[in-house]
Amino acid sequence: MFVLSDKTLQTVGKMSVVVQKYGGSSVGDVDRIERVADRIVATRGSGKDVVVVVSAMGETTDELVALAAQITDSPPPREMDMLLSAGERVSMSLLAMALEVRGVPAISYTGSQAGILTDSSHGEARITRITGERVKASLEEGRVVIVAGFQGVDPQSREITTLGRGGSDTTAVALAVSLDADLCEINTDVEGVFTADPRVVPDAVKLPEIGYHEMLEFAAAGAGVLMPHSVEFAHRSGVPLHVRSSFGVAEGTWVTADAPSFTIAGLAHRVVDDQAVVVIVGAGSSSLVAHALAALDEAGIAAATIETTDLRVSISVPDQQVEDALRLIHRTLKPPIPSRVPA
Ligand code: ADP
Ligand code: ASP
Ligand code: MG
Repeated sequence: MFVLSDKTLQTVGKMSVVVQKYGGSSVGDVDRIERVADRIVATRGSGKDVVVVVSAMGETTDELVALAAQITDSPPPREMDMLLSAGERVSMSLLAMALEVRGVPAISYTGSQAGILTDSSHGEARITRITGERVKASLEEGRVVIVAGFQGVDPQSREITTLGRGGSDTTAVALAVSLDADLCEINTDVEGVFTADPRVVPDAVKLPEIGYHEMLEFAAAGAGVLMPHSVEFAHRSGVPLHVRSSFGVAEGTWVTADAPSFTIAGLAHRVVDDQAVVVIVGAGSSSLVAHALAALDEAGIAAATIETTDLRVSISVPDQQVEDALRLIHRTLKPPIPSRVPA
């Protein structure tokens, strides 16, 4: 007689779960919400349980920040979190309605209802645990579960918290980890992780895959496509991330443990408090930075190396020239440079 192992017994009857996150521009208006609903229907049709994490529609979060600023320069952090967490409630409920219209049972939950527990740091809370009982129960009832990104609750004070700007990525990955999901899809407004911000560098190239370690460097250096904490969560647990466009079906970028490494994966840039920085990411950055500095010098852009680590070199440039510097360094170094050139 054929006997199932314990592990097989546990897996039988358990559908595989996919977590899909849709960012602000992907749910920016009703048409886009409808398109997202169609994508979810298609994923569900392939036999997966789907948990969806949504951001607030379009620029909603910025608009809420601006509203508060009209009233006070120093809003109480608790009230700021009450205000900002409202944005995701709008998109999650509209998406649930769009799914119901398509005959797919769906339910939306706030972070608190989904059991996303955090510490008490308003505006930059860290997820400490996900209980997720209602999420699991609703999946078992055959529903698509939609969870508001970027928010949780401090179980001690019972106050609503938010995770910092871009925090829906972290909600999605943390949920994927807690549900032991097959993968976490980050659906956004670009086709994946590029060798530099494709809105600034037209010749940037999409990376088919990248390791957690390099992705974390990239995100921390300023590549806004993923929030750094989300990559940390994925790295610790090993859940694969697929960063892809919400508007097409092309393969995006896989972020995994076993992606090949790069001599140079790409460039990130950021401007913080008037300091503009271009960061070269990859284990070979320090050996190639001299080419970048020579090209900047030739173009009359004043630049200086301000930090060198095993995986990156950071170069400061005048803030008005940061985008020119980014394009020039990209043209000079031509990332991605794989770490081993085949013989
Ligand atoms: P979402 O609202 O979906 O979370 P974000 O605006 O947070 O989207 O992130 C996507 C944006 O990240 C892109 O529109 C792009 O301009 C920017 N970006 C910066 N660096 C990169 C990069 N290396 N690869 C892809 N996108 C990048
Ligand atoms: N809506 C939040 C923000 O704009 C969270 C997110 O989009 O990830 O930062
Ligand atoms: Mg984002």
